[in-house]
Amino acid sequence: MDLDVAPTLAGMLGQVNKLPTLPAVALRVLELGEDPYAGVGEITEVVANDPVLSAKLLKAANSPLYAMRRQVDNLRQAISVLGFNAALTLALSFSLAPESDAGPLDKLAYWRRSLLAAVAARVIAEEGQLKEASKCFVGALLQDIGMLVLEKAHSDLYTDILAASDNHLAVVQAERQAFGFDHAAVGAALLESWRLPECAWRAVASSHQLTLSGEAAREAGIACCVHLSGILADRWIQPEQSQALDICFAERAKTLLGFDEEACTAIIVRMEELLPHYSSLFEVDLILNADRATHLIEEAREVLVLRNLRSLQETSEYKLRSEMLESRNRQLEERSYIDPLTGLLNRARLNQMLEQEFHAAVAGGWPLSLGFVDLDQFKRINDTYGHQVGDKVLISISRLLQAQVRQADIAARYGGEEFVLVFPGTEENKAFELLERLRRGVAAEVHHADGTEIVVTTSLGLATFSGHLGDSEFSSPEELIRAADRALYAAKREGRNRTVVYRRAED
Ligand code: GH3
Ligand code: MG
Ligand code: MG
Repeated sequence: MDLDVAPTLAGMLGQVNKLPTLPAVALRVLELGEDPYAGVGEITEVVANDPVLSAKLLKAANSPLYAMRRQVDNLRQAISVLGFNAALTLALSFSLAPESDAGPLDKLAYWRRSLLAAVAARVIAEEGQLKEASKCFVGALLQDIGMLVLEKAHSDLYTDILAASDNHLAVVQAERQAFGFDHAAVGAALLESWRLPECAWRAVASSHQLTLSGEAAREAGIACCVHLSGILADRWIQPEQSQALDICFAERAKTLLGFDEEACTAIIVRMEELLPHYSSLFEVDLILNADRATHLIEEAREVLVLRNLRSLQETSEYKLRSEMLESRNRQLEERSYIDPLTGLLNRARLNQMLEQEFHAAVAGGWPLSLGFVDLDQFKRINDTYGHQVGDKVLISISRLLQAQVRQADIAARYGGEEFVLVFPGTEENKAFELLERLRRGVAAEVHHADGTEIVVTTSLGLATFSGHLGDSEFSSPEELIRAADRALYAAKREGRNRTVVYRRAED
């Protein structure tokens, strides 16, 4: 479209003669709505001038839409039964039905969508217990009034737009392309000029696009109702159209007002209940298709179940990710506890765990045995067969140590060819037996290097803490290690390949 001739919103509204004018009755009704002193008497007077409108209000007052106790047969009574606000809303709504003149816009379809939306807005407002439900009805009813303006102002262009668009949002898109604004903007400007309440024309302005949630959405209750009402009306009219999830009623209702499946279902069921009465009141067939409601309820259920699944999936993905991270951290942590050559715990970890075990032994009063293991003449192995063979022997003996100790015991590489074994809850004589079995096990193992058989022996020192602190006892894990090391040194001195038990007298 040529920018020079692009119509502006102000310019369009400036063409006053082309704008739909409010019927005199509607205008008076709007004025009464603004007048804090107006009452049933005033509105009766205004409506009484219009016999068609009077008949419609009587009909409304007698319809099941307004809980009735008795037959109403005069206008004043009808208006008191309806209540001031409802009477105003209805009077205004009746006056706003488009004249069914010729033109590209299908007036019946237009009016049907408007009414469906108005009923939807009323039901949504009730379900969400939003304030100003009657303004929701009018706001929703008027949300497309800009289409009437565009049709009058740019009949030819609008004919093309309507012909090329098969659903409401497509019309909106095409309008924006052609004019730079859509009928919501036009409608809002028109309603503002008619002095409709600000919340109502603002709701019309955001009828196609509303990005709110939580408290802000509830605060802008009319805007939410009008926005949702258009979506629900479209789904009601063309359930097969616009299947995309992002314009699905249930999805949007959940996002904006937090409605769950139950609330959406209640809304659709209530609409189904009300529509026959509104059809009769406004003399427009709003039922359309008997199984529409069922279809919409199913859709709402599907969408909300999907949405729940999706959030469940996100939660479990999140859980999985954090579990993976946790396990990775654990692995990393564990790795820093492990001696890379032998796979046994390293000295740092040994010190930590021994500290814990020592305190546990004190607290529980149980014995704690510690064996210091040193390979005999290991330097020779390296010197004779090379460092790599030495490594292999270290690995193989480490496996043997690890295999021989219980789950609760600790096997650690203290450094070089030195190992420490910790046996919580194990008495000295029992620990001695264990160490001796280990010593024999190591000595019985034959290692192979370059076709040669190698046998390695070990010397071991044992120290046992009784579990009871006292003058003649170890007072710390360090003392326990030092004692076992001394016993080991004695084993070396006494000829290697043996286990020596620490005796305090040896100090
Ligand atoms: P002793 O019976 O008195 O303990 O004699 P030893 O040779 O075992 O003792 P010494 O402390 O003199 O030598 C320890 C040797 O252990 C020296 C070093 O080459 C070897 N060693 C220490 N760590 C490693 C290792 O990670 N890999 C290999 N291959 N050898 C190691
Ligand atoms: Mg050594
Ligand atoms: Mg050694």
